[in-house]
Amino acid sequence: MSTVKRGLASASAGAVRSSVPAVPLPGASRPMLRLPTAGGSFAASGLLAPALRRLPGAASAGRAALRCLASAAPAVAAAAPAPPAGVVQKAHGFTLTRQQYVKEYGSHVLMYTHDKTGAEVISVLNTDENKTFGVVFRTPVDDSTGIPHILEHSVLCGSRKYPIKEPFVELMKSSLNTFLNAFTYPDRTCYPVASTNTQDFYNLVDVYLDAVFHPRCVSDRRVFEQEGWHYELDNKEEPLTYKGVVFNEMKGVYSSPDSVYYRVVQQALFPSNTYRHDSGGDPEVIPKLTFQQFQDFHAKYYHPSNARFWFYGDDEPVKRLALLDGFLSEFERRPVDSAVATQALMHEPRTVTEYYAAGAAGEEGGEEGGAPGGGGEAQKAYVGLSWVLSDTPLDVETELALGFLDYLMLGTPAAPLRKALNDSRLGAAVIGGGIDDDLKQPCFTLGLKGVDPADADKVDALILTKLRELAASGFSASAIEAAVNTIEFSLRENNTGSFPRGLSLMLRAVGAWIYDQDPFTQMQWEDALASFKSKLAAGGDVFGPLIHKYLLDNTHRVAVRLLPDSAKAAAIEAAEKAELDRARAAMKEADLEAVVSNTHALKELQETPDSPEALTCIPALKLSDIPKTITKVPTASKALADGATLLGHDLFTNDVLYLEAAFDLQAVPARLLPLVPLFCRSLTQMGTATESFVELTERIGRKTGGISVYPFTSAVRGAEQPVSYVMIRGKAMGGKAADMLDLMRDVLLTARLDDKARFGQMVAETKAGMESGIISGGHSYAAKRLGAQRSLAGAVGEAMGGLSYLEYIRQLAKKVESEEGWQAVKADLEAIRGALLQRKGAIVNLTADNATLAAAESAVADFLAALPAAAPAAAAANDWATSGLLLPRASEALTVPTQVNYVAKAANLYADGGYELQGSAYVVEKYLGNTWLWDRVRVVGGAYGGFCSFDSHSGMFTYMSYRDPNLLDTIESYDGSADYLRGLDLSADELTKAIIGTMGDIDAYQLPDAKGYSALVRHLLGVTDDERQLRRDQILSTSNKDFKTFADAIDCVRGSAGRVVAVTNAEKAGKVLEEKPGFWELKKVL
Ligand SMILES: [Zn+2]
Repeated sequence: MSTVKRGLASASAGAVRSSVPAVPLPGASRPMLRLPTAGGSFAASGLLAPALRRLPGAASAGRAALRCLASAAPAVAAAAPAPPAGVVQKAHGFTLTRQQYVKEYGSHVLMYTHDKTGAEVISVLNTDENKTFGVVFRTPVDDSTGIPHILEHSVLCGSRKYPIKEPFVELMKSSLNTFLNAFTYPDRTCYPVASTNTQDFYNLVDVYLDAVFHPRCVSDRRVFEQEGWHYELDNKEEPLTYKGVVFNEMKGVYSSPDSVYYRVVQQALFPSNTYRHDSGGDPEVIPKLTFQQFQDFHAKYYHPSNARFWFYGDDEPVKRLALLDGFLSEFERRPVDSAVATQALMHEPRTVTEYYAAGAAGEEGGEEGGAPGGGGEAQKAYVGLSWVLSDTPLDVETELALGFLDYLMLGTPAAPLRKALNDSRLGAAVIGGGIDDDLKQPCFTLGLKGVDPADADKVDALILTKLRELAASGFSASAIEAAVNTIEFSLRENNTGSFPRGLSLMLRAVGAWIYDQDPFTQMQWEDALASFKSKLAAGGDVFGPLIHKYLLDNTHRVAVRLLPDSAKAAAIEAAEKAELDRARAAMKEADLEAVVSNTHALKELQETPDSPEALTCIPALKLSDIPKTITKVPTASKALADGATLLGHDLFTNDVLYLEAAFDLQAVPARLLPLVPLFCRSLTQMGTATESFVELTERIGRKTGGISVYPFTSAVRGAEQPVSYVMIRGKAMGGKAADMLDLMRDVLLTARLDDKARFGQMVAETKAGMESGIISGGHSYAAKRLGAQRSLAGAVGEAMGGLSYLEYIRQLAKKVESEEGWQAVKADLEAIRGALLQRKGAIVNLTADNATLAAAESAVADFLAALPAAAPAAAAANDWATSGLLLPRASEALTVPTQVNYVAKAANLYADGGYELQGSAYVVEKYLGNTWLWDRVRVVGGAYGGFCSFDSHSGMFTYMSYRDPNLLDTIESYDGSADYLRGLDLSADELTKAIIGTMGDIDAYQLPDAKGYSALVRHLLGVTDDERQLRRDQILSTSNKDFKTFADAIDCVRGSAGRVVAVTNAEKAGKVLEEKPGFWELKKVL
C-alpha cells in the first residue's frame, strides 16, 4: 500500500532541483527497512506539486553549478568520538534526557524535553552542512473534510511576526533553502526545512515556527476560504461554483485511479480507526467543513505538548534550543489527546468492491480499443490483496527480516512473486509492491492493474499460491546473497538524491516517535543487521515462518476490486452541481449578494500585493553572503583510443565508485527512436547469453549497488541538432569496479533481446504507466507536446516519453501479438544495438576519490576494448531533422476522464522571440513563477499550481498549470505576464531577494554522485566553466532593466507564435470551442 502524504505547494520552485535520474536501486522502494530513499513509500504530492524542471532534455545542466565540499556520507566504521563541545545538560528551559552516538550516521543524537511544555526535541550533531529542521504534530481526523491538509497549506499564509500574505512564497523567492515544503500524512502533519547556510537555516526555522504557532489563518477566514473552499459567484446571474486550492488539488487526486485504489485499500484495512477517513480531504466532503471546526483543530493539535521537533547538521546545538524556547516559553503544558488508536485485527478475510471514473467504453485514444491484451486498459480493474501485519509494534530484527523478505519476493522484476504476477499476463502492471510501514501498523499490499474484472479471483489465487510455494521452498542462496548486498549497500551509501539526508533520517525516526515508540532504534540498524546475517548464515528456515505468520495465516486480509465506471465522472459532476443548486436555492437574495461581495473582496485581497515595507519582515541574506565565483567539480579528462573519452572526478564518496558510460544515439535512425526506452529496459531484463534474467539480476545485486540504462536528450543552445545518448549508470564499492564493468559489458553486448513474453509485459506496463501519468501529471505531457513543435530535442523527447510515445506504445502492443510483428520488433532492437555500441565517441564518467579512480582505470580500458571500434550499423547520416519528428504547430486539447485541467502555453524565445540568453533570465523566470503566476493561477484561480519553465538550451518558455479548475482564464493570466513584468519597479531589497533565491537553485546542494553527473552533463552540452561564471556574474547583477528585456522576449508566447496544449475532459474542451471556434484540435487520449 502506498500511504498518501501530501504537501502544500505545486512545483514552481524548490521541489526538484537535481537533474540526476537516480539509479533505480532494486531495493530503493522497500520501505520496511526504512532505506534512505527520497520519498519513502508514500505517493507524495508535496506542498509543491511534482516539479517539471526536467522538460525535454537536461534543462538544469547549465545551472547546476556546485557548492563546494558537500559533506559526504559519514564514515560508518569510525569509532565513537567524544561528545562534541556545546552539549549541555540544561539550557534555555530544556533538559537533556538521552544521549547516544549513532555510528550508522556518524552522529551524536541528543534528546531534550522542554520543561514547561513537555515538547520533545531530537538534536542530531554531525558534520553535514545540509542542516535540517522539522516540526511534526499528531493530527488524527474524525472525518474526510481535509482539515489537516487545509491547515498545512494555511499556516504558511501569514503569522504574528510575519504579517504578510504568504511568507512561504517569500521564502521560495529569497532563501537559499535546499528543502522547503510541508506534508500531511493520514495521522500527522510535518513541516521541514533545510539549508546549508546557517543564517538562512535559522531564518527558515523562525518563519516556520511562527507559522505553526501563530498563524493568521485561524483569525482570518479569507485564508481558509482561499486554501480550503468557498462559494464563488462573480455576479448573481452566473452559476455558483466551489473554489479552493486544496479542493482542486484533491479533485486531481480523486481523478487518478491509482490514488483511488490506495485510498480504498487504506479504508478497507482500517475500518475502525482514524485511517478510515481521508486526511487530505474528499472533494465531496470538503465543502462541509466550517471555519469554526478549522479553528478548533488548530487550537487542539498545534500545541508544543503535541509537537516533536528535529534538528540535524553541523550548527551550534545550544543555539537550536534558544531558538525553540523563544516560541515554546509562552505556552503551558497540557494534555493533548491525539494518540492513534490501534486497529484490532479481523478474524475473517473480506472483499471490498469500489468504482473509479473511467473513459467511455471502447474508444480509447481513437483506436478501436477493447482488444484483449491490447487497448482498453481504461476499462480494466485494479485487483489486489492487502493485509495489516500486526496490532503490536514489531521489534527491529523482525522489521529487518520482513524487509528482507519483501525485497526477496518483490524487490526486482526478477523476484519470484513480482515475476509470477508479470508472467501471468493477468494484468498490465503490478500495484502495491509489498510492505508499507508509514502508518502505525505495517501493511502489505500486492496486486495488478489492467485486469479483466472476470479474472479478479485468479489474481488473488495466484498471490496466495505463490506465497505458499515460497513459504515451502524458501529462496536460493544466490538470491539471498544479492538481497543482503543490495540492502547493505543502500543503507551504507545513504544516498538520498536531492532530498536532504537529515530529512530522510527524520522521517525514519518520526515513524516510531510519533507512536510513542523509541526513535533511536530506527537509526541503529548495524547490530540487527549483523545478527540477522548470522542467522541467515546458520541456514535455518528464516522466511517460511514469516510468510505464514504475517501473510498466509493472517486473517486481517482484504481483497480489493476497483472497477471502471464510465458513468462515474459525469455522476460526480452532476452531484456537485446538484449540491451547488441546492445551496443556491436555499440562499435568499441577500445571501447571494453576500457571496458576490465576498467573491470580489477575496479577489481584491488576493490581487493586492504586500507593500515593500511589509515584506521587509522576511529575513534575508545579503548579496555579499553569496560567493562570487562558481564552484568547479574537479575533472580530469583523458582521450582514449578510437575517440573514446574518460572523465574522472576526484571526490570523497566513502569508497563507492559511481560510473556512467554514454553512447551517442545520433547513429540510430529516427524511426527507431521510440523503441529506445524499451531497448534500454530490455538490456537488463531479459538475461544475457549465459545467464537467465533471474541470474543476471542476482549478479547485479551481488556485485553492485544497482545498474540502470536510459536515454538522455537535451537541446544545445545555438545548434539545431540535440545531444542524445544512451547512458548506462551504476555504482559499486571501489573493490568491485571490475565486476561492475564486466556486468555492463555483458549487458550491452550479450543481453538477449528475444524474450517475447517479457517484452510484451514491459509494453503493457509502459502503457499502463503512461495512461495513469497523463491523468496525474498532465502538465508534463502538455509541455512535452509543445516542446516537440519547436525544438528537435523536444521532438525526440516527446517521441520517447510524451503522447507520441504513448501512441507508439499502443500500436506496439498490437504489433507484438503476431509472430511476424514480433520478429520485426526483435530485428529493430538488434538494429539499435548495432548502431549504438562503439568506442568511437563513447564517454566514461567516473566519480570517486583518486585512489579508487586510479584503480578502476584498467577495468575501464578492458570494458572499452570489448566494444566494436566503430558501430557496424551506424546510419550514414543522422535523419532526425528531416524525418518528420517535429510536430506541426498546433493548439490541442488532450482529453481524458478528469475533474481538473493541466494547461500549458509555450513558444521558443530564441526562434520566435529573438532572445539572447542572459543569466538574468533565471531570476526573472523564478520571480514570475512565484509572484504573478502563483497569485493569478493558484491563489485567485484556485489551481494547485501555476508556474513557468525556461529551458536555456532549447529556448522553450512554457507556462503550466497543475490541477486547475480553469482553462481560458488561466491562459489569460499567462498572457498578462509580460505586462506585469514591464510594470515592475523592484526596490533594491526585492531585487536582492530575487537574486539570492535564484542562487539557491544554481548552487543547489548535491551529493558527490550528483556533482560528478552534473559535470558529465555539462561536458556533453559543451557548457564551460567560463560560461558558468559569465551566467553567474549576470545573475548577480540582474537589474530592473533585465525584467523589461525578458518581458519583451516572452511577448512572443502571447503573440502569434504561442500555442496551447491542455489536458482536460472532452466536455470542457468542447465548451472552449463553442466560445472560441477553431481554438484547438481535440485529441481523445483516454
Ligand atoms: Zn496540498
